[in-house]
Amino acid sequence: MQYVVVDLEWNGSYSKKAHGYFNEIIEVGAVKVSEDMRILDKFQCAIRPVVSKKLSDIVTDLTNITAEDLEDGTTFTGMVKRFTRWVGKEPTAILTWSTTDLLVLMENCRYFYGRQEIPTLQYYMDFQAYAQRRMEVDSSQQLGLARAGEMLGIPEDNMSLHRALDDSLLTAAVLQKVYDKDSFLQEIQTVDEEFYKRITFKTVIIKDLDDPLVKRSELCFNCPECGQNMKRKGSWRFRSRAFCAEFSCRRCDKRYNARAQFRQKYEGVEIRKKLSEILPAEQEKTTENEAVAAT
Ligand SMILES: [Zn+2]
Repeated sequence: MQYVVVDLEWNGSYSKKAHGYFNEIIEVGAVKVSEDMRILDKFQCAIRPVVSKKLSDIVTDLTNITAEDLEDGTTFTGMVKRFTRWVGKEPTAILTWSTTDLLVLMENCRYFYGRQEIPTLQYYMDFQAYAQRRMEVDSSQQLGLARAGEMLGIPEDNMSLHRALDDSLLTAAVLQKVYDKDSFLQEIQTVDEEFYKRITFKTVIIKDLDDPLVKRSELCFNCPECGQNMKRKGSWRFRSRAFCAEFSCRRCDKRYNARAQFRQKYEGVEIRKKLSEILPAEQEKTTENEAVAAT
């Protein structure tokens, strides 16, 4: 199997046909990498936008691409044809840094072909997720590509970030650093109907405590010090995307703010729990507030 790292630049504008905001791809960069991490070839293609000829300031500032740069560009479908020829017949896994680029590609396929499936896409990997795990970066924050390059000591000279080809070259350099063949091959996803359902599934935060997906047993908290089951004081409230309540441990005489977030994902419900101690100073404050609220 060969790997193809893909990076896109796009221009957002209002589109009547899309009934809203549309991210039109204006540049595609790609790097072909062998299973033993040799860079085999590069691909670059400019696309002349048809939805909005005017590039937004964000795009111009970020990428330095101008409308003149794109005048000799091809069409979206022309790019897909060229790209497909360039990829060739060998089994290929497409890699993008986070799924955003893949979703934008699907959005463009929907617009120009009337269906979201990406022609010739057989295998896929969200390489950001993989790199982040390999680099042991906490999954609660999203690791940026430039930051990953920095952390791995990849020299940035002569690279212009936020240009499709340079970004894909940087991604390929990150790949060379974090690649482990066995774990990598295991994480490559086969692109089938299910894949598209999974990738477009929107994670929902459950807001209703009575939702059958909220397991009451998950709303129990043990004391981080003595391990005993703590007692809840007051009722659950939904605040900043999580259920919050105060707990106390009688044995340790400590109070905690507990948070439990239920995220409904394609794979099932994911629960994130957190305890933070209420320090004595804050305790006085909350008691004061409660007293004020009571009067
Ligand atoms: Zn305790």
